[in-house]
Amino acid sequence: HISFFSTSANSVYEKIAFIGAGKMAQALMHPLIEQQVQPAEKITVYDVSNSTMKKISEQYDGKINTSESIPHALQDADLIILAVKPQNVCKVYEEMRKADISINSTLLSVIAGKPISSFTNGTGMAKIARSMPNTPAIIGQGLTVWCSTPNIESEEKERIEKILNSFGKSIFVEDESYIDMSTAISGSGPAYIFLLMEAMIDAAVHMGFSRETATTLVHHTILGSTMYAMESKEHPAVLRNSVTSPAGTTASAIYELENGKFRTVIKDAIWACYRRSLEMG
Ligand code: NAP
Repeated sequence: HISFFSTSANSVYEKIAFIGAGKMAQALMHPLIEQQVQPAEKITVYDVSNSTMKKISEQYDGKINTSESIPHALQDADLIILAVKPQNVCKVYEEMRKADISINSTLLSVIAGKPISSFTNGTGMAKIARSMPNTPAIIGQGLTVWCSTPNIESEEKERIEKILNSFGKSIFVEDESYIDMSTAISGSGPAYIFLLMEAMIDAAVHMGFSRETATTLVHHTILGSTMYAMESKEHPAVLRNSVTSPAGTTASAIYELENGKFRTVIKDAIWACYRRSLEMG
């Protein structure tokens, strides 16, 4: 028995169409091709910017297909990856409604804030997977939280997982509301860490380190601390206490962080992001 979704050994779908080919789409496309999850020949890209499409085509020696229009890009696509900014989705829906999309095709969105209902109403498609990746995907260290409509069966879920795992780790959630919550933690999270990095680097430079040394110190401190927390499996408070000796230097720093409402500021920022994600729906 050959199912509708049976694909050749080295592709997860017969045709993947990317709508929007900016930073996120390119971050996802690269490992898909490099890790031979999906060959470039079975990927089609549409972006309003011709220069973006030209750049991508050149990058993959013309093997990736580019399309002149959304309906053309979507022809025979069994997976459609939507990667435009949230403010551009309505325009994309209009074009998608003109396309001849098979009822068996699946839509995978990476768009922040847009709920599954927006895609079903906007495009008329029934099989929707909504995901929230993050930018470390660019170096294969992404974290993607995703959910899907119940009509996507486990065999196809595994294929979607294969795509998402090609650029890092993925976590499937049954309840869509976790996607907006994960936007506030893992989706936008890298920006919080980069801001912390910036502040620490600036302070190190202020004290007298060269910018290069300051950057190395901060990068390795954040990387090492994360790996230590992951490997030791200890609660962060335990690890923090173990470097906070009585009347010591760390205790002085922690006092100032608490005095500046460090925890509350982080929590308020995360709630603001979550609320914004809900508003964008
Ligand atoms: P981006 O670099 O601006 O990419 C979006 C691309 O879509 C641009 O090349 C844009 O072209 C193109 N575009 C605009 N209107 C279009 C249309 N009607 N049809 C086809 N293409 C169109 O943005 P991004 O950072 O990749 O973000 C894309 C999505 O990923 C967003 O919805 C965001 O929420 C989501 N996301 C991003 C991150 C992140 O950290 N970056 C993380 C998780 C999720 P122009 O530039 O010419 O307008």
